[in-house]
Amino acid sequence: METKQFKAESKRLLDMMINSIYTHKEIFLRELISNASDAIDKLYFKSLTDTSMGVNRSDLKIDIALDKEKRTITISDNGIGMTKEELEENLGTIANSGSLAFKKENDLGDDVDIIGQFGVGFYSAFMVGKLVTVYSKAYGSNEAYKWESVGVDGYTIDKCDKEGHGTTIVITLKDNTEEENYDKYLEQWQIQSLVKKYSDYIRYPIKMDVEHTHYTEEGKEPEVHVENETLNSMVPIWKKNKNELTDDDYNNFYIEKFNDYEPPICHIHSRNEGVATYDALLFIPARAPFNYYSKEYEKGLQLYSSGVMIMEKCADLLPDYFSFVKGLVDSEDLSLNISREMLQHDRQLKIIAKNIERSIKNELVKMLKAKREDYEKFYSSFGLQLKFGIYQSYGAAKDTLSDLLLFTSSAEKKKVTLDEYVSRMREDQKYIYYACGESVDRIEMLPQTELVKDKGYEILYCTDDVDEFVLKVMINYKDKQFKSVSDKDLDLETEEEKEEIKKQAEDCKDMFEFMKSTLDGKVSDVRLSGKLKSYPVCLSSDGTVSIEMEKVLNSMPQNSENKVTAEKALELNASHPVFETLKKLYESDKDKLAKYTKLLYCQALLIEGIGLENPTEFSNLVCELMV
Ligand code: ADP
Repeated sequence: METKQFKAESKRLLDMMINSIYTHKEIFLRELISNASDAIDKLYFKSLTDTSMGVNRSDLKIDIALDKEKRTITISDNGIGMTKEELEENLGTIANSGSLAFKKENDLGDDVDIIGQFGVGFYSAFMVGKLVTVYSKAYGSNEAYKWESVGVDGYTIDKCDKEGHGTTIVITLKDNTEEENYDKYLEQWQIQSLVKKYSDYIRYPIKMDVEHTHYTEEGKEPEVHVENETLNSMVPIWKKNKNELTDDDYNNFYIEKFNDYEPPICHIHSRNEGVATYDALLFIPARAPFNYYSKEYEKGLQLYSSGVMIMEKCADLLPDYFSFVKGLVDSEDLSLNISREMLQHDRQLKIIAKNIERSIKNELVKMLKAKREDYEKFYSSFGLQLKFGIYQSYGAAKDTLSDLLLFTSSAEKKKVTLDEYVSRMREDQKYIYYACGESVDRIEMLPQTELVKDKGYEILYCTDDVDEFVLKVMINYKDKQFKSVSDKDLDLETEEEKEEIKKQAEDCKDMFEFMKSTLDGKVSDVRLSGKLKSYPVCLSSDGTVSIEMEKVLNSMPQNSENKVTAEKALELNASHPVFETLKKLYESDKDKLAKYTKLLYCQALLIEGIGLENPTEFSNLVCELMV
């Protein structure tokens, strides 16, 4: 018989499984049971729309059998089964390619991480088995096939006999080694406890012949009788009473069901009656999945109708800004054979989605108030998504989301909420000040922040690209307007100071005109600043596009053709000694003033973190000063 080769990717994963030193090899059982349950789900779901199939729910089950002599574990289901093509396609090709992509991207050295982090599906059988044989008969087909493999060398597929539809997997255990005793998987109590631990909630019975030994009288042979028992309770966790469940129960369920490798940061378990009746079990992951901020990531909650899964990822249940939430909704109001298109318009589903959005928001607010550390951890993973939410809705989502935002503040450089900021604003403070830059350290160095801080006003440091866009679409928070420290008018001066600046500006009008023309259109204005303290210059943005926005927009690939430019003004500090020099030069040496103007402009650009158009000219000008 011809031996077929695994696809290259599959071979790698398989190789990892076979040579795995992973300590939790026991998870192979949960993976196979979960596949069996999925296969039964598929059959059952099909039967709901096609009554002619005559499937009886009470007949659906998973069987486990142990054979100590042959050293085999057999897991059978009477689910949908696989055709020859499906066997080839599903078992010859790795399905869980996401995990391998992840491994590549992060170049994880050993297999331990990847196995722990993701379920690895069917191939996990090779962690404990030296030979894996799969017998399968697809529902509605007359032919059954046997797939068999001893590992990376390939597999064979051959016709075989099999009674009903479904799949039977026989694992012949590896030989025991010093490190690993594979025989333990032949012990019934071991299997019983593994099923309890990982697969208790599976909604179909997992059955096994269990031996019971009775010691009747001393000296007499004990009586052994065998009963075919159901090992799992079959009650899905979300149908259980909250106070029967521990955090561990929730966490284990989450890790297994949603392929995460660490417990969620919190769970929300609710039962709702009224306009819509449903159970919801939601989780907020502790960390963003590797593909979270990519197009590949698909949001959605699992959707069940009275305990039967009808959709793996129902996107309509989650707004984009909460797309990180994992979980499920089980409602008796939904019809089983509702189509995707119909679902979108389903009134009931809309109500559920609204409720879910509200309860996620409430949970986050609760966490923010009671468990700040957890919240900050959450925010470091998903805060960006909340900000995108506000920006992408052009501010429409701000009522829901603005209270959830955090920014690093100039006060203590800790994360603060907008509410915290506003509640401690100075009496005379009109605006919520913010400053943008690539890092907190960079922003701290901005000349524009000096006087604001000096006045005792707090500044929000915006270090994410999207930050300023968010604040711009929000416009204000609790009636306080956002104001960039790089804006033209920060309103920091007293009336007298304003008068003084105005007077001086009037006196130097011609010099500013001269300087502006020297810079040849690079700045829209040269003027005196009301926000500088110890620095001689800074740039200010005059138009709607700020300097930071210019940087961000121009770094996007789609904007590489049409560069955006912010209207920039060069602001001078009248109380800096350099200003006196400029004034003198205007009278005595205009050539030099022109050079100094360029120098000051270049300095201002550098301070803003903007590259110079002509670094050589700048360097030459500096050298001139040195010799
Ligand atoms: P995953 O379950 O994550 O898709 P697996 O490697 O575990 O990946 O399984 C690959 C595919 O093989 C499944 O998606 C399913 O189509 C098929 N499969 C596995 N086990 C069974 C089974 N017991 N019955 C029917 N199909 C199965």
